[in-house]
This record gives sequence, C-alpha cells and structure tokens, in this order.
Amino acid sequence: MVKHSQVESPREACGILVGRAKDNEVRVSRVCACRNVHSDPTVEYLVNPEDQVRIFEEIDEDNEVELLGFYHSHPGGPNGPSQIDSSRNYWPEHLIAIVSLSPEPNVSFWKWENGRFRRQEIVRERF
Ligand SMILES: [Zn+2]
Repeated sequence: MVKHSQVESPREACGILVGRAKDNEVRVSRVCACRNVHSDPTVEYLVNPEDQVRIFEEIDEDNEVELLGFYHSHPGGPNGPSQIDSSRNYWPEHLIAIVSLSPEPNVSFWKWENGRFRRQEIVRERF
C-alpha cells in the first residue's frame, strides 16, 4: 500500500483489501491496487469500476477470501480520514485503510460506525 501510494503521489492511490475476517481477527492476504479515475486525483479518488468488478469477480470465485475493505492515500496528509472521506458512503462492515505519506509513511485503519470513523487497532503486518 505504501509503495503504491508513493508511486502515485501526488495523485491519491486507491485499492481493495482482500482476505479473511474471522471473529475479531482480520487478515489481509491481498492488496489489490486499482486505478484512480477521479477527475481531480490529487484531491480525491474514484476506484476504476473495471478494476473493482474484476477484483469482485476474483473474490466470488475464491471461497477462501472475501472483500475486507478499501484503501487510499493522502499524499500530503492528513494522517487519517479527511472531510471528504466523512462525506463518502462507506459500509460499516468495511475496513478503510488510509495511507498518509506526510510527514512520513503511515497506515491507519478505520471503520465507519454510527456516523463517524472509528480507528481500528491492527497489531502487526507489513504494509
Ligand atoms: Zn481520504
């Protein structure tokens, strides 16, 4: 995620997180980079619908994995959800990963619950 975000900077990078959620444990097994097709990609992102359909089809064909959520980057910060993110319609069950590149690369995980973002603690992993 960080690498993809750095390559795309100053445009926002975006993608889909695939893996397994069981009980309270979430295990991301694949980070699927998608193309940002937003008309103003330095301030917002829009996952390329073709990429999204292709990844959703791959998930459908694989019984071992499910859609966990989405990620996108903030090349110039903030280090968490932006005002734009709060105006998006996220599903409560989806994990939202935000890669901030400023002042240094950082990945945080969130869920949209009851009208606000709640930070999710992720214990380990390399991103
Ligand atoms: Zn954002």
